[in-house]
Amino acid sequence: MCCKGIKKTAKKAKQIAIGYAYLAAGVNEELSARRVRICRNCPNLMGGMVCAICGCEVHAKTRLPEEECPDKKNRRWTKEIV
Ligand code: SF4
Repeated sequence: MCCKGIKKTAKKAKQIAIGYAYLAAGVNEELSARRVRICRNCPNLMGGMVCAICGCEVHAKTRLPEEECPDKKNRRWTKEIV
């Protein structure tokens, strides 16, 4: 893996860890609920929890305002930077 790839993977791992920490602490509940409602109507949602495109657990991912739906052809929800 190239240096750029390692940095990208490390950044994603950090975001996942923050998402789970937010999930455990109940951070950004309203934002997550709004996004998860959209995910529940998406054909890419597997088992009601995991996005088939990015592999993330949506209840954690959706708590991060800087995250966005990974479906580049149809972003169902976007970044919400405050
Ligand atoms: S593609 Fe977007 S809307 Fe669909 S499950 Fe993944 S994150 Fe949610």
